[in-house]
Amino acid sequence: MSKISKVVARQVFDSRGNPTIEAEVFSKNISSSAICPSGASTGTFEAFEKRDVNNKKYLGKSVLNSVSLVNKIISKKLKNLDLHNQEKIDSILINLDGTKQKTKFGANAILSVSMAVKKLSAKLKKIPLYKAFLVKKDFKLPYPLMNIINGGAHADNGLRIQEFMIRPDKAKSFSEALRISFLVIHNLKNLIKKKGLSTSVGDEGGFAPMINRNEDALDLIVKAINKSGFKNGRDVSICLDVAANELFKKNLYSIHSKKFESVEKSIKNYVKIINKYKIKSIEDPFSENDWLSWNRLMNSIKKTQIVGDDLYVTNLERLKKGFLNNSSNAILIKLNQIGTVSETLEVIKFAQIIGYKTIISHRSGDSEDTFIADLAVGTNSNQIKTGSLARSERVAKYNQLLRIEEELGKKAKMNKIH
Ligand code: PGA
Ligand code: ZN
Repeated sequence: MSKISKVVARQVFDSRGNPTIEAEVFSKNISSSAICPSGASTGTFEAFEKRDVNNKKYLGKSVLNSVSLVNKIISKKLKNLDLHNQEKIDSILINLDGTKQKTKFGANAILSVSMAVKKLSAKLKKIPLYKAFLVKKDFKLPYPLMNIINGGAHADNGLRIQEFMIRPDKAKSFSEALRISFLVIHNLKNLIKKKGLSTSVGDEGGFAPMINRNEDALDLIVKAINKSGFKNGRDVSICLDVAANELFKKNLYSIHSKKFESVEKSIKNYVKIINKYKIKSIEDPFSENDWLSWNRLMNSIKKTQIVGDDLYVTNLERLKKGFLNNSSNAILIKLNQIGTVSETLEVIKFAQIIGYKTIISHRSGDSEDTFIADLAVGTNSNQIKTGSLARSERVAKYNQLLRIEEELGKKAKMNKIH
Protein backbone atom coordinates (compact mmCIF):
# COMPACT_ATOMS: atom_id res chain seq x y z
CA MET A 1 0.00 0.00 0.00
CA SER A 2 1.27 3.48 -0.89
CA LYS A 3 -0.15 6.28 1.17
CA ILE A 4 -0.95 9.85 0.22
CA SER A 5 1.24 12.22 2.24
CA LYS A 6 -0.23 15.49 1.02
CA VAL A 7 -1.92 17.30 -1.85
CA VAL A 8 -0.72 20.67 -3.03
CA ALA A 9 -2.74 22.81 -5.42
CA ARG A 10 -1.67 25.88 -7.33
CA GLN A 11 -3.14 28.29 -9.84
CA VAL A 12 -1.70 27.92 -13.35
CA PHE A 13 -2.97 29.08 -16.76
CA ASP A 14 -4.75 27.28 -19.60
CA SER A 15 -4.37 27.64 -23.37
CA ARG A 16 -6.73 30.62 -23.46
CA GLY A 17 -4.74 32.38 -20.78
CA ASN A 18 -7.37 31.75 -18.11
CA PRO A 19 -6.47 30.62 -14.60
CA THR A 20 -6.98 26.93 -13.84
CA ILE A 21 -5.98 24.48 -11.10
CA GLU A 22 -3.01 22.16 -11.00
CA ALA A 23 -3.00 19.60 -8.19
CA GLU A 24 0.12 17.73 -7.11
CA VAL A 25 -0.33 14.59 -5.05
CA PHE A 26 2.59 13.31 -2.95
CA SER A 27 3.49 9.93 -1.55
CA LYS A 28 6.56 10.67 0.55
CA ASN A 29 8.80 12.57 -1.84
CA ILE A 30 7.35 11.20 -5.08
CA SER A 31 4.59 13.20 -6.75
CA SER A 32 2.41 13.52 -9.85
CA SER A 33 0.42 16.51 -10.97
CA ALA A 34 -2.59 17.13 -13.19
CA ILE A 35 -4.21 20.24 -14.69
CA CYS A 36 -7.96 20.71 -15.13
CA PRO A 37 -9.21 21.90 -18.57
CA SER A 38 -12.08 24.33 -19.17
CA GLY A 39 -14.89 24.55 -21.77
CA ALA A 40 -16.50 27.47 -23.62
CA SER A 41 -19.68 25.92 -25.01
CA THR A 42 -20.58 24.16 -21.79
CA GLY A 43 -23.72 22.12 -21.13
CA THR A 44 -26.15 23.26 -18.41
CA PHE A 45 -25.88 19.91 -16.64
CA GLU A 46 -22.11 19.83 -16.39
CA ALA A 47 -20.39 19.70 -13.03
CA PHE A 48 -19.65 23.19 -11.73
CA GLU A 49 -16.45 25.03 -12.61
CA LYS A 50 -15.71 27.21 -9.62
CA ARG A 51 -14.06 30.61 -10.05
CA ASP A 52 -13.54 33.56 -7.72
CA VAL A 53 -16.24 35.68 -9.36
CA ASN A 54 -15.79 38.52 -6.88
CA ASN A 55 -12.02 38.77 -7.17
CA LYS A 56 -11.48 41.54 -9.68
CA LYS A 57 -7.71 41.09 -9.73
CA TYR A 58 -8.24 38.31 -12.27
CA LEU A 59 -11.52 39.66 -13.71
CA GLY A 60 -13.43 37.13 -11.62
CA LYS A 61 -11.67 34.19 -13.28
CA SER A 62 -9.11 33.14 -10.67
CA VAL A 63 -9.39 29.80 -8.84
CA LEU A 64 -7.56 30.82 -5.68
CA ASN A 65 -10.41 29.87 -3.33
CA SER A 66 -10.46 26.35 -4.77
CA VAL A 67 -6.68 26.16 -4.48
CA SER A 68 -6.96 26.97 -0.81
CA LEU A 69 -9.79 24.41 -0.32
CA VAL A 70 -7.51 21.72 -1.74
CA ASN A 71 -4.54 22.78 0.37
CA LYS A 72 -6.46 23.20 3.59
CA ILE A 73 -9.30 20.66 3.49
CA ILE A 74 -8.84 18.05 0.75
CA SER A 75 -5.16 17.47 1.57
CA LYS A 76 -6.00 16.67 5.21
CA LYS A 77 -8.90 14.38 4.32
CA LEU A 78 -6.84 12.33 1.86
CA LYS A 79 -3.75 12.05 4.04
CA ASN A 80 -2.70 8.44 4.72
CA LEU A 81 -5.27 6.94 2.33
CA ASP A 82 -4.17 4.14 -0.01
CA LEU A 83 -3.53 5.99 -3.22
CA HIS A 84 -4.19 2.94 -5.36
CA ASN A 85 -7.81 2.94 -4.17
CA GLN A 86 -9.08 5.48 -6.71
CA GLU A 87 -12.76 4.70 -6.12
CA LYS A 88 -12.50 5.30 -2.39
CA ILE A 89 -10.60 8.54 -2.85
CA ASP A 90 -13.07 9.77 -5.46
CA SER A 91 -16.05 8.87 -3.27
CA ILE A 92 -14.48 10.79 -0.36
CA LEU A 93 -14.06 13.80 -2.67
CA ILE A 94 -17.66 13.48 -3.89
CA ASN A 95 -19.05 13.18 -0.35
CA LEU A 96 -16.89 15.96 0.99
CA ASP A 97 -18.37 18.26 -1.63
CA GLY A 98 -21.84 16.82 -1.08
CA THR A 99 -23.62 18.69 -3.90
CA LYS A 100 -25.07 17.28 -7.11
CA GLN A 101 -22.95 19.38 -9.46
CA LYS A 102 -19.89 19.74 -7.20
CA THR A 103 -20.64 23.38 -6.51
CA LYS A 104 -18.99 23.49 -3.08
CA PHE A 105 -15.41 22.71 -4.10
CA GLY A 106 -15.86 23.00 -7.85
CA ALA A 107 -15.32 20.10 -10.25
CA ASN A 108 -12.08 21.79 -11.32
CA ALA A 109 -10.56 21.36 -7.86
CA ILE A 110 -11.87 17.81 -7.41
CA LEU A 111 -10.88 16.58 -10.87
CA SER A 112 -7.33 17.87 -10.76
CA VAL A 113 -6.81 15.92 -7.51
CA SER A 114 -8.54 12.81 -8.87
CA MET A 115 -6.39 12.77 -12.03
CA ALA A 116 -3.18 13.40 -10.11
CA VAL A 117 -3.98 10.44 -7.81
CA LYS A 118 -4.44 8.19 -10.85
CA LYS A 119 -1.14 9.35 -12.36
CA LEU A 120 0.77 8.84 -9.13
CA SER A 121 -0.75 5.39 -8.64
CA ALA A 122 0.50 4.32 -12.09
CA LYS A 123 3.89 5.90 -11.44
CA LEU A 124 4.34 4.01 -8.16
CA LYS A 125 3.22 0.76 -9.79
CA LYS A 126 5.82 1.51 -12.46
CA ILE A 127 3.31 1.10 -15.28
CA PRO A 128 2.48 3.58 -18.03
CA LEU A 129 -0.72 5.50 -17.31
CA TYR A 130 -2.68 3.88 -20.15
CA LYS A 131 -2.22 0.50 -18.47
CA ALA A 132 -3.95 1.75 -15.30
CA PHE A 133 -7.52 1.93 -16.64
CA LEU A 134 -10.08 -0.65 -17.85
CA VAL A 135 -8.11 -2.51 -20.54
CA LYS A 136 -5.46 -4.90 -19.30
CA LYS A 137 -4.07 -6.20 -22.61
CA ASP A 138 -4.58 -5.80 -26.38
CA PHE A 139 -4.39 -2.03 -26.28
CA LYS A 140 -5.75 -0.18 -29.30
CA LEU A 141 -5.11 3.31 -30.56
CA PRO A 142 -8.06 5.68 -31.17
CA TYR A 143 -8.82 7.44 -34.45
CA PRO A 144 -8.24 11.17 -34.13
CA LEU A 145 -11.10 13.54 -34.83
CA MET A 146 -9.24 16.63 -35.92
CA ASN A 147 -11.05 19.91 -35.71
CA ILE A 148 -9.66 21.68 -38.77
CA ILE A 149 -12.14 24.52 -39.28
CA ASN A 150 -13.49 26.33 -36.23
CA GLY A 151 -16.78 28.21 -36.09
CA GLY A 152 -19.55 28.86 -33.57
CA ALA A 153 -18.44 29.84 -30.06
CA HIS A 154 -14.83 28.90 -30.86
CA ALA A 155 -14.25 31.54 -33.55
CA ASP A 156 -15.34 35.00 -34.58
CA ASN A 157 -16.39 34.12 -38.14
CA GLY A 158 -20.01 33.60 -39.10
CA LEU A 159 -19.96 29.78 -39.34
CA ARG A 160 -22.99 28.27 -37.58
CA ILE A 161 -21.41 24.87 -36.93
CA GLN A 162 -18.74 24.91 -34.20
CA GLU A 163 -16.35 22.22 -35.44
CA PHE A 164 -15.58 20.84 -38.88
CA MET A 165 -13.43 17.77 -38.31
CA ILE A 166 -11.68 15.09 -40.33
CA ARG A 167 -11.18 11.45 -39.35
CA PRO A 168 -8.47 9.53 -41.26
CA ASP A 169 -10.45 6.28 -41.62
CA LYS A 170 -7.96 4.77 -44.06
CA ALA A 171 -5.13 4.74 -41.49
CA LYS A 172 -3.86 1.38 -40.33
CA SER A 173 -1.68 2.89 -37.61
CA PHE A 174 -1.77 5.98 -35.44
CA SER A 175 1.28 7.51 -37.07
CA GLU A 176 -0.37 6.97 -40.46
CA ALA A 177 -3.51 8.66 -39.09
CA LEU A 178 -1.41 11.70 -38.24
CA ARG A 179 0.35 11.69 -41.61
CA ILE A 180 -2.98 11.68 -43.46
CA SER A 181 -4.35 14.46 -41.25
CA PHE A 182 -1.14 16.45 -41.68
CA LEU A 183 -1.47 16.32 -45.48
CA VAL A 184 -5.11 17.41 -45.49
CA ILE A 185 -4.43 20.22 -43.02
CA HIS A 186 -1.50 21.61 -45.05
CA ASN A 187 -3.44 21.43 -48.29
CA LEU A 188 -6.36 23.14 -46.58
CA LYS A 189 -4.04 25.90 -45.41
CA ASN A 190 -2.89 26.52 -48.99
CA LEU A 191 -6.46 26.59 -50.29
CA ILE A 192 -7.48 29.11 -47.63
CA LYS A 193 -4.42 31.24 -48.42
CA LYS A 194 -5.23 31.17 -52.15
CA LYS A 195 -8.67 32.54 -51.38
CA GLY A 196 -6.98 35.50 -49.70
CA LEU A 197 -8.35 34.48 -46.31
CA SER A 198 -6.59 34.32 -42.97
CA THR A 199 -4.89 31.09 -41.94
CA SER A 200 -4.70 32.03 -38.28
CA VAL A 201 -6.08 29.37 -35.97
CA GLY A 202 -8.86 29.28 -33.35
CA ASP A 203 -8.91 27.95 -29.80
CA GLU A 204 -8.60 24.31 -30.85
CA GLY A 205 -5.95 24.83 -33.51
CA GLY A 206 -8.30 24.68 -36.50
CA PHE A 207 -8.41 27.46 -39.09
CA ALA A 208 -10.99 30.16 -38.53
CA PRO A 209 -11.29 31.88 -41.94
CA MET A 210 -13.92 34.58 -42.39
CA ILE A 211 -16.43 32.44 -44.23
CA ASN A 212 -20.00 32.20 -43.08
CA ARG A 213 -21.71 29.37 -44.94
CA ASN A 214 -21.31 25.84 -43.58
CA GLU A 215 -21.18 24.57 -47.15
CA ASP A 216 -18.22 26.82 -47.97
CA ALA A 217 -16.26 25.20 -45.14
CA LEU A 218 -17.34 21.72 -46.25
CA ASP A 219 -16.38 22.43 -49.90
CA LEU A 220 -12.93 23.60 -48.80
CA ILE A 221 -12.37 20.43 -46.76
CA VAL A 222 -13.47 18.15 -49.63
CA LYS A 223 -11.03 20.01 -51.92
CA ALA A 224 -8.21 19.59 -49.38
CA ILE A 225 -8.95 15.86 -49.07
CA ASN A 226 -8.89 15.46 -52.85
CA LYS A 227 -5.73 17.50 -53.22
CA SER A 228 -4.03 15.22 -50.70
CA GLY A 229 -4.83 12.24 -52.93
CA PHE A 230 -7.55 10.80 -50.69
CA LYS A 231 -11.21 10.02 -51.25
CA ASN A 232 -13.72 11.80 -49.07
CA GLY A 233 -15.96 9.37 -47.17
CA ARG A 234 -13.63 6.43 -47.72
CA ASP A 235 -10.05 7.39 -46.81
CA VAL A 236 -10.91 10.48 -44.83
CA SER A 237 -14.32 11.28 -43.39
CA ILE A 238 -15.82 14.61 -42.45
CA CYS A 239 -17.30 14.81 -38.95
CA LEU A 240 -19.12 17.73 -37.32
CA ASP A 241 -19.77 19.15 -33.88
CA VAL A 242 -22.79 21.40 -34.27
CA ALA A 243 -22.96 22.43 -30.56
CA ALA A 244 -26.65 23.13 -31.18
CA ASN A 245 -27.28 24.49 -27.67
CA GLU A 246 -25.90 27.72 -29.04
CA LEU A 247 -28.23 27.69 -32.09
CA PHE A 248 -31.57 27.04 -30.43
CA LYS A 249 -34.46 29.45 -29.78
CA LYS A 250 -38.12 28.68 -29.08
CA ASN A 251 -38.02 25.18 -30.63
CA LEU A 252 -36.32 26.46 -33.76
CA TYR A 253 -32.70 26.03 -34.87
CA SER A 254 -30.34 28.17 -36.93
CA ILE A 255 -27.92 25.35 -37.83
CA HIS A 256 -27.89 25.41 -41.60
CA SER A 257 -28.09 29.17 -42.01
CA LYS A 258 -28.68 32.25 -39.87
CA LYS A 259 -32.41 31.72 -40.37
CA PHE A 260 -34.20 29.80 -37.60
CA GLU A 261 -36.09 26.78 -38.93
CA SER A 262 -38.19 23.88 -37.62
CA VAL A 263 -36.74 20.58 -36.41
CA GLU A 264 -38.24 18.84 -39.42
CA LYS A 265 -36.51 21.21 -41.80
CA SER A 266 -33.24 20.97 -39.83
CA ILE A 267 -33.33 17.16 -40.10
CA LYS A 268 -34.00 17.37 -43.85
CA ASN A 269 -30.98 19.64 -44.20
CA TYR A 270 -28.87 17.28 -42.05
CA VAL A 271 -29.75 14.39 -44.35
CA LYS A 272 -28.90 16.55 -47.34
CA ILE A 273 -25.39 17.45 -46.12
CA ILE A 274 -24.77 13.90 -44.85
CA ASN A 275 -25.39 12.59 -48.37
CA LYS A 276 -23.65 15.39 -50.25
CA TYR A 277 -20.49 15.48 -48.11
CA LYS A 278 -20.54 11.85 -46.89
CA ILE A 279 -20.51 13.05 -43.29
CA LYS A 280 -19.82 10.19 -40.89
CA SER A 281 -20.39 11.74 -37.48
CA ILE A 282 -22.48 14.57 -36.02
CA GLU A 283 -22.10 15.73 -32.43
CA ASP A 284 -24.80 17.66 -30.54
CA PRO A 285 -27.13 18.02 -33.56
CA PHE A 286 -29.86 19.34 -31.26
CA SER A 287 -29.99 21.04 -27.89
CA GLU A 288 -29.42 19.38 -24.52
CA ASN A 289 -33.10 19.13 -23.52
CA ASP A 290 -34.59 18.34 -26.89
CA TRP A 291 -34.61 14.53 -26.48
CA LEU A 292 -37.42 14.09 -29.00
CA SER A 293 -35.51 15.71 -31.87
CA TRP A 294 -32.44 13.55 -31.19
CA ASN A 295 -34.64 10.49 -31.50
CA ARG A 296 -36.22 11.80 -34.70
CA LEU A 297 -32.78 12.27 -36.22
CA MET A 298 -31.71 8.76 -35.18
CA ASN A 299 -34.79 7.44 -36.99
CA SER A 300 -33.97 9.45 -40.11
CA ILE A 301 -30.39 8.32 -40.64
CA LYS A 302 -28.80 4.93 -41.16
CA LYS A 303 -25.08 4.81 -40.62
CA THR A 304 -24.07 8.20 -39.25
CA GLN A 305 -22.48 8.35 -35.82
CA ILE A 306 -24.60 10.61 -33.60
CA VAL A 307 -22.64 11.85 -30.59
CA GLY A 308 -23.98 13.25 -27.32
CA ASP A 309 -21.76 15.85 -25.67
CA ASP A 310 -23.82 18.59 -23.98
CA LEU A 311 -26.69 16.08 -24.03
CA TYR A 312 -24.98 13.61 -21.69
CA VAL A 313 -22.25 15.71 -20.03
CA THR A 314 -20.48 12.42 -19.13
CA ASN A 315 -23.30 11.77 -16.66
CA LEU A 316 -24.58 8.21 -16.15
CA GLU A 317 -28.19 9.19 -15.43
CA ARG A 318 -28.41 11.26 -18.59
CA LEU A 319 -26.74 8.52 -20.63
CA LYS A 320 -29.32 6.00 -19.36
CA LYS A 321 -32.12 8.35 -20.37
CA GLY A 322 -30.55 8.75 -23.81
CA PHE A 323 -30.26 5.00 -24.22
CA LEU A 324 -33.95 4.44 -23.39
CA ASN A 325 -34.89 7.27 -25.75
CA ASN A 326 -32.62 6.02 -28.58
CA SER A 327 -31.04 9.47 -28.74
CA SER A 328 -27.62 8.65 -30.14
CA ASN A 329 -25.12 5.87 -30.77
CA ALA A 330 -22.00 7.49 -29.31
CA ILE A 331 -20.96 9.61 -26.35
CA LEU A 332 -18.30 12.26 -25.92
CA ILE A 333 -16.33 11.86 -22.70
CA LYS A 334 -14.97 14.90 -20.87
CA LEU A 335 -13.59 14.30 -17.39
CA ASN A 336 -14.42 17.77 -16.10
CA GLN A 337 -18.08 17.47 -17.11
CA ILE A 338 -18.52 15.00 -14.26
CA GLY A 339 -15.50 15.72 -12.05
CA THR A 340 -13.77 12.48 -11.02
CA VAL A 341 -11.86 9.71 -12.78
CA SER A 342 -14.03 6.96 -11.23
CA GLU A 343 -17.32 8.48 -12.39
CA THR A 344 -15.85 8.95 -15.87
CA LEU A 345 -14.82 5.28 -16.04
CA GLU A 346 -18.28 4.22 -14.89
CA VAL A 347 -19.88 6.16 -17.75
CA ILE A 348 -17.43 4.72 -20.29
CA LYS A 349 -18.11 1.17 -19.07
CA PHE A 350 -21.86 1.62 -19.31
CA ALA A 351 -21.63 3.24 -22.76
CA GLN A 352 -19.58 0.32 -24.06
CA ILE A 353 -22.00 -2.24 -22.59
CA ILE A 354 -24.92 -0.62 -24.46
CA GLY A 355 -22.85 -0.57 -27.66
CA TYR A 356 -22.18 3.16 -27.84
CA LYS A 357 -18.89 4.38 -29.25
CA THR A 358 -16.84 6.32 -26.70
CA ILE A 359 -14.90 9.39 -27.82
CA ILE A 360 -12.48 10.92 -25.32
CA SER A 361 -12.31 14.70 -25.62
CA HIS A 362 -10.24 17.73 -24.69
CA ARG A 363 -11.83 21.09 -23.79
CA SER A 364 -11.44 24.27 -25.79
CA GLY A 365 -9.40 25.66 -22.88
CA ASP A 366 -6.78 22.96 -22.33
CA SER A 367 -3.19 22.50 -21.17
CA GLU A 368 -0.01 20.51 -21.59
CA ASP A 369 -1.59 17.69 -19.57
CA THR A 370 -1.89 14.55 -21.73
CA PHE A 371 -4.07 12.45 -19.38
CA ILE A 372 -6.79 12.00 -22.02
CA ALA A 373 -4.42 10.35 -24.51
CA ASP A 374 -3.73 7.55 -22.04
CA LEU A 375 -7.39 7.43 -21.03
CA ALA A 376 -8.42 6.83 -24.65
CA VAL A 377 -6.09 3.85 -25.04
CA GLY A 378 -6.75 2.49 -21.55
CA THR A 379 -10.53 2.46 -22.03
CA ASN A 380 -10.59 1.03 -25.55
CA SER A 381 -12.20 4.22 -26.84
CA ASN A 382 -12.65 4.29 -30.59
CA GLN A 383 -11.87 7.92 -31.12
CA ILE A 384 -10.17 10.91 -29.52
CA LYS A 385 -11.10 14.51 -30.20
CA THR A 386 -8.31 16.85 -29.31
CA GLY A 387 -8.13 19.63 -31.86
CA SER A 388 -6.02 20.14 -34.92
CA LEU A 389 -2.31 19.54 -35.50
CA ALA A 390 -1.52 22.98 -34.16
CA ARG A 391 -1.16 24.59 -30.72
CA SER A 392 1.00 22.58 -28.35
CA GLU A 393 -1.78 21.83 -25.86
CA ARG A 394 -3.56 19.91 -28.69
CA VAL A 395 -0.50 18.35 -30.32
CA ALA A 396 0.75 17.18 -26.89
CA LYS A 397 -2.05 14.60 -26.81
CA TYR A 398 -1.26 13.33 -30.32
CA ASN A 399 2.44 13.16 -29.49
CA GLN A 400 1.66 11.12 -26.37
CA LEU A 401 -0.34 8.69 -28.54
CA LEU A 402 2.68 8.39 -30.86
CA ARG A 403 4.80 7.45 -27.83
CA ILE A 404 2.23 4.86 -26.73
CA GLU A 405 2.16 3.44 -30.27
CA GLU A 406 5.94 3.17 -30.25
CA GLU A 407 5.95 1.48 -26.86
CA LEU A 408 3.34 -1.07 -27.95
CA GLY A 409 5.43 -1.82 -31.03
CA LYS A 410 4.02 -4.59 -33.22
CA LYS A 411 1.10 -5.05 -30.83
CA ALA A 412 -0.19 -1.54 -31.57
CA LYS A 413 -3.45 -1.82 -33.50
CA MET A 414 -5.99 0.82 -34.42
CA ASN A 415 -9.42 0.63 -32.82
CA LYS A 416 -12.58 -0.14 -34.82
CA ILE A 417 -14.73 2.75 -35.95
CA HIS A 418 -17.34 0.88 -37.98
P1 PGA B 1 -15.90 23.24 -25.16
O1 PGA B 1 -16.19 22.72 -26.63
O2 PGA B 1 -14.71 22.57 -24.63
O3 PGA B 1 -15.75 24.71 -25.40
O4 PGA B 1 -17.14 22.94 -24.35
C1 PGA B 1 -15.89 21.46 -27.09
C2 PGA B 1 -17.10 20.73 -27.58
O5 PGA B 1 -18.22 21.30 -27.63
O6 PGA B 1 -16.98 19.56 -27.91
ZN1 ZN C 1 -19.24 19.30 -28.41
